[in-house]
Amino acid sequence: MKTPLPIFTEEKNLMELEDEGRTFLLQPNTAESWKAMKAKAASDGIHLYMVSAFRSIERQSQIIENKKAKGIPDDEIYAVSAPPGRSEHHTGRAIDLNTVDCPVLEEEFEDTPAFEWLRENAASFGFTLSYPRNNPYGIAYEPWHWKFRGNQAFETARQSTESEPR
Ligand SMILES: [Zn+2]
Repeated sequence: MKTPLPIFTEEKNLMELEDEGRTFLLQPNTAESWKAMKAKAASDGIHLYMVSAFRSIERQSQIIENKKAKGIPDDEIYAVSAPPGRSEHHTGRAIDLNTVDCPVLEEEFEDTPAFEWLRENAASFGFTLSYPRNNPYGIAYEPWHWKFRGNQAFETARQSTESEPR
């Protein structure tokens, strides 16, 4: 039995950030934690770069429609793409990552030192792997897809320096 993917609302509080010449949108705490994680990885000699971040429901619909237009069967489409409204990327808290010398969004990412580093360190920045092997959603294994689920120490530090309403 597959567990249906949850429904996500589109995050409205987004922040622009640059990564290696491209611009992305992320929920602000996620963006800050990503930057800290990238810097720590770099200091450990690990190269990480961002492939995708926030994606609107509209954009997810276009991606699905483009695949359908190419004649890709639905079961193949939905093994790798969430239906519109059910992608974690709508939350502005999910990131797809890659490293030098690895094809983008391929399972090979799990054999890189970058993935090894993430397995050991991502949790301390509040990021966890969303779709491990044999996940209950029937989504293909995605070693590159990480979601910010919050980092208590990090959020507390941020809240004490900010007065924005929540
Ligand atoms: Zn992803």
